[in-house]
Amino acid sequence: MSLALSGQKVLVYGLAKSGVAALRLLCQQGARVTALDARAEEALGEVGREVKALGAALVTGPTPPGLLASQDLVVVSPGVPLALPEIEAARAAGVAVWGEVELAWRCLTEVPLFGITGTNGKSTTTALTGELFLRGGKRTFVGGNLGRPFSEAALSPGDWDALVVELSSFQLEGIRTLRARGAAILNLTPDHLDRYATHADYGAAKARIFQHQLGGAQPGQHPQGTDFAVVNADDADVLGLARAAKVPVYGFSTTGKPVADAPKLAGLAVAEEGGFRLDFLGERYRLTNRALRGAHNAQNAMAAALLARLGGVASDGVQAGLDSYPGLPHRMESVRVLDGVEWVNDSKATNVDSVLVALRSFKGDLWLIAGGKGKGAPYAPMVDEGRGKVKGVLTIGNDADVLARAYAGQAPVHACGTLDAAVKKARELARAGDTVLLSPACASYDQFKSFEDRGDTFKRLVGAL
Ligand code: ADP
Repeated sequence: MSLALSGQKVLVYGLAKSGVAALRLLCQQGARVTALDARAEEALGEVGREVKALGAALVTGPTPPGLLASQDLVVVSPGVPLALPEIEAARAAGVAVWGEVELAWRCLTEVPLFGITGTNGKSTTTALTGELFLRGGKRTFVGGNLGRPFSEAALSPGDWDALVVELSSFQLEGIRTLRARGAAILNLTPDHLDRYATHADYGAAKARIFQHQLGGAQPGQHPQGTDFAVVNADDADVLGLARAAKVPVYGFSTTGKPVADAPKLAGLAVAEEGGFRLDFLGERYRLTNRALRGAHNAQNAMAAALLARLGGVASDGVQAGLDSYPGLPHRMESVRVLDGVEWVNDSKATNVDSVLVALRSFKGDLWLIAGGKGKGAPYAPMVDEGRGKVKGVLTIGNDADVLARAYAGQAPVHACGTLDAAVKKARELARAGDTVLLSPACASYDQFKSFEDRGDTFKRLVGAL
């Protein structure tokens, strides 16, 4: 289906990756496009040149009064708050305001969409769900908040049997009709309180993923089958959000006992030793892939399997995908086994909660490399979680002293300063059967460009040992 955008005046607000993808799509659809970004034109570099090459008008710096209100449609990038006064004023003046994912969706309504949101695990679950669909033989677009912007899928709608899309709460705020055939909420912990007034507001943004799902069997209305929701049955807040769903709700649980007062579930996935089962289908799946170790990844795997199985992937495709999933870089990524020591890159762990998740995934014999630009949260929970598991801590970066104080008397601390020195020290200390884990609990900006840069540096150093 193509959109009736030809000749329409459309403004794209924000020219990061998703905004640029939206711009390309709108130009392909024949819209008269204006691109707006608060940055100066020099700061935009290549993007500014592309805007002009596509024949769109470029406006940089402060937004000229009345510009938004004179459009037929404003498409907003996920980084731009919808609550900006100029956007609210445009909406009040009758201008349609869509997020970038809504624009993409309008060109893709014929293809079943599987949406994934939550505070943690979105990228892993999205990549894994994509793998299951691909192994099930479906031509699958995998992207959204992770990897490729959703608008890229909309450039060639005929290419896809399935859309597996990571949706952040910011992206969900900008949907108007986007309908997920399968919608998953993984978990809900306090986050982004800079942008949401309360935890309830943040949850409400996530619950929008259920909003346009179609309940009930209405012949002809949804030819690919019924819509469904997938939720974490161990998380009371998520189960609460599921009450908004009008469709069958499936849960996943590491305990097999959904929390009290849970809404009625159409089926449950339950973790068991070495894998999990889908009780409503009587199916068992193996989970032995190293890239998916840890209870948190069992949750991600159960969510992915529910989406895929209910979305039309056969059970052997699901098992094949669970086995072949390569993992995402910098998330508990196994880099190398050298003289019986495994080296693991978890550079994405930029806060204490993520380190807890990593520590829970190992039985013991760990050398932990941590530190960097701290976020002010106490380190005590990771000291507690690591008791009996962490043989020593190798500190780097700004927060080294704070970490050393937290671990004083609990585990030996080696002040290394740099990642280079920490890797050398760990090589000296670790014995066969041990694991060296880079899980810093800190941002990287004091010593690296990004967590990716930190993880890549670690991999290079370990590769050179
Ligand atoms: P997101 O895209 O939501 O940030 P990722 O898949 O990139 O999620 O994982 C980020 C971090 O969140 C991981 O390094 C891990 O520490 C933690 N994590 C992953 N999955 C889960 C989960 N299901 N529950 C809690 N924490 C998780």
